[in-house]
Amino acid sequence: MHKRFEDFITAMTRLVNDGPRDEPRILEEGTRLLGDLVRHDDWLEDRHAVPHPQFYQQYKLYCAPDDSFSVVSFVWGPGQKTPIHDHTVWGLIGMLRNAEVAQSFERDENTGTLTATQQARLEPGDVEAVSPTVGDIHQVVNAFDDRVSISIHVYGADIGKVRRHVFDPASGAAKEFVSGYAN
Ligand code: FE
Repeated sequence: MHKRFEDFITAMTRLVNDGPRDEPRILEEGTRLLGDLVRHDDWLEDRHAVPHPQFYQQYKLYCAPDDSFSVVSFVWGPGQKTPIHDHTVWGLIGMLRNAEVAQSFERDENTGTLTATQQARLEPGDVEAVSPTVGDIHQVVNAFDDRVSISIHVYGADIGKVRRHVFDPASGAAKEFVSGYAN
């Protein structure tokens, strides 16, 4: 493990375990820690940066022994994108290499109708937060059609095991899914 990443894990472990697990504090301080990590692109192992010709890849970089948080590299092949999905736990997205575009949605609980809200373009060093409190539904796409982009995600659970949802863009109908990991 690269020293820079090791230091990040040490600091995140302290943040998540010291004091009450209150989300605003974790998101604020976690944004600072993840920003410091992704401002430098010298630590991610090559095996965690390998794109797939068809599907965006999620490599598990770390999971806390008590599942209190996990860290994943998202590797986007040219033009690849996620379905519209949620997370059900807090999450931080830090851009490491090239760029991605995230479209947020609000969902009417009664009808399921999805409404597009903000759109954000993440450049290297940028960090964005998701959670059921701050906005949890989005669709993310590689900003480039001709190169690989990579972002580093931190979640408040072992995200590969969390039951969450993808949403039909037209009807807003929810379908359960578990993402797993590529490795
Ligand atoms: Fe997401």
